[in-house]
Amino acid sequence: MIVPSPSSKRSIAMASKRSVAIVGAGFTGSVLAAHLLRNAEGPTTIHLIERADTLGTGLAYSTANAAHLLNVRAYNMSAFPDDPRHFLRWLWSKDDGEAVPPSGHAFVSRARYGAYIQDVLREARAEAPAHVALNTVQGEAVDLAVDDGSAPGGRKGVRLRLGTGAKLDVDAVALCVGHFPPSPPPVPAPEVFASDRFIGDPWNAAAVSAIDPDAPVLILGTGLTMVDVVLSLDNQGHRGPIVALSRRGLLPTTHVETRPFKSFVHPQVMPRTVLDVLIALKADVRRAREEGYDWRAAFDALRPYHPLIWKHLPLDERERFLRHARPYWEVHRHRMAPEVAARIDALRANGRLAVRAGRLTDLALTPDGVEATVRARGGEDGTWTRTVGVIINATGTECDYGRIRHPLMQALLRRGLARPDPLRLGLDVTEEGALIGEDGAASDRLFALGPVSRAPFWEMTAVPELRSQCANAARTLAHARPEGIASTTNVLARPRVSR
Ligand SMILES: Cc1cc2nc3c(=O)[nH]c(=O)nc-3n(C[C@H](O)[C@H](O)[C@H](O)COP(=O)(O)OP(=O)(O)OC[C@H]3O[C@@H](n4cnc5c(N)ncnc54)[C@H](O)[C@@H]3O)c2cc1C
Repeated sequence: MIVPSPSSKRSIAMASKRSVAIVGAGFTGSVLAAHLLRNAEGPTTIHLIERADTLGTGLAYSTANAAHLLNVRAYNMSAFPDDPRHFLRWLWSKDDGEAVPPSGHAFVSRARYGAYIQDVLREARAEAPAHVALNTVQGEAVDLAVDDGSAPGGRKGVRLRLGTGAKLDVDAVALCVGHFPPSPPPVPAPEVFASDRFIGDPWNAAAVSAIDPDAPVLILGTGLTMVDVVLSLDNQGHRGPIVALSRRGLLPTTHVETRPFKSFVHPQVMPRTVLDVLIALKADVRRAREEGYDWRAAFDALRPYHPLIWKHLPLDERERFLRHARPYWEVHRHRMAPEVAARIDALRANGRLAVRAGRLTDLALTPDGVEATVRARGGEDGTWTRTVGVIINATGTECDYGRIRHPLMQALLRRGLARPDPLRLGLDVTEEGALIGEDGAASDRLFALGPVSRAPFWEMTAVPELRSQCANAARTLAHARPEGIASTTNVLARPRVSR
């Protein structure tokens, strides 16, 4: 059902004992909805609110560019933790030429994966029992308030407001809002950021496709988003030179097929410092090599333990990791598909792409474009300047909710219903995803899932983690009632972080 027109501004009253609103229908919101459709025991209405005109694809899987591949092998991309071959079966059922071997060792296009998630949602809706209804709403949630029911005529629950002015009253809300574009780099150049020479959202396909094919391009960031942008430019016949810049100039490593390897981690004896983790991981890599494995096997063996390790690291150690080890960790953990890496290598080899290490110190508009000044890392080359036609900010998603300007996020903070986590990785949430308010109390009706909820886990970005989170959260949300959700979560004091 579509929300009423802006002028009507009436509440949407649904005759149902339980009602849950899911804000955002990317992977997380859609898979959460699918679980609720399958598992809700009593009469339930699920309102799935999405501002885009497609459900299921979100930011990652809405690209139409066939060169944008998954960075996880197909065999590890099932939407369901209890059915690991679900995505493979779906792929094999489609006779569309994207051959996937029986092992599932293949990197298929992200657009293909978006179609899969759409089918997951469609199927769950078609097979849902009669007492569960899915109400899809196209619109943007811009405000949210919790009503404790104490005012005359008040109703316990949550009231969501959409950009159209329509309102929605529900028992619980799951925020599955995904990723926010990066903030501009820390140089004083508002006139550049306001100009059409600066593309602040690297996923804005229309802006990237409008770049003059001969323009020199500077991409800020050298991670997987930079790789996507370079592939898009190459596909559209870009001829101008491309420079990709980051502090260390590190490129993502490349996937190779690995065999299962046993990690050093013993759940009973968890490391308490980052140094301990890194020393043990290095020893694992050495052991792996001696036994004929690739280093990636040792790295991958650690992945199921990331949340446990993170949980056992004191806050100052987590901060140490973010400050010193994160860039190196990211390039080993978030790898390119081999076919993507081969294209990037070829572009570097023929001089069309240069990857540089350094720090952007200044940007200035000139008649021909933007003059960028960079202090080279290590100082060997000193400072260099380059005039480019376009700058694309691919420095990574903004996770500091104190800086995110989206009205819904600002409303949550302003009303004291949420707070950024101390390390600015996302919103402060319990392990169950309950939002922790300004007063340190965990909400019994507001939840956040997906990348926004990574603070207690560190690793809550990719499908292998998100699918389990969705399955678990659906079990909790299935009990949403006007009186809230009985929760095991406690009141948390805000930990201190040294800065
Ligand atoms: C470019 C890219 C590629 C990736 N590739 C992979 C991969 O290959 N494998 C992998 O495992 N992971 C990958 N990831 C990680 C990714 O985080 C997850 O796989 C997953 O897509 C996250 O889904 P999400 O629904 O949480 O977020 P998103 O995909 O960002 O979806 C959030 C949705 O919420 C909507 N929304 C936001 N705010 C509102 C609002 N106020 N009102 C209404 N709607 C709203 C947005 O329009 C969007 O559709 C990739 C991430 C990116 C950014």
